[in-house]
Amino acid sequence: MCVFCKIVDKQIPAEIVYEDDKYLAFKDINPKAPTHILIIPKKHIESFHLVKDKDDKKLVKWLLDIAWEIIDQQNLPGCQLHMNSWSDHGQEVPHIHLHLLSKDKTSIKW
Ligand code: 5GP
Ligand code: ZN
Repeated sequence: MCVFCKIVDKQIPAEIVYEDDKYLAFKDINPKAPTHILIIPKKHIESFHLVKDKDDKKLVKWLLDIAWEIIDQQNLPGCQLHMNSWSDHGQEVPHIHLHLLSKDKTSIKW
């Protein structure tokens, strides 16, 4: 089981900032900005490049909806969004994740 699946399963702890039946968002353990959140589908999909199935594509597209939700909730005035795909393009954890970074600290306590 990959590290993010273990976080989904609550086998290892994480600072969760959003959760529903299909998605989880939590603070990056090694933040590169004052706000650094990882948004993942609970379903284990290794890489953006492996998404071929129509339903999986929908699941991955909706990661942006979770980003909007967090931006609104936390009142973030600006952010950077990115996703790495494949280890030779910076992907360390083989479970799709969208990075949400902001130079602004979230105003609301998680
Ligand atoms: P990638 O390089 O794969 O796009 O990003 C993986 C991110 O996951 C990195 O920013 C790294 O700090 C974070 N990360 C790796 N392991 C853990 C973990 O166990 N918990 C949390 N919260 N973040 C992790
Ligand atoms: Zn996984």
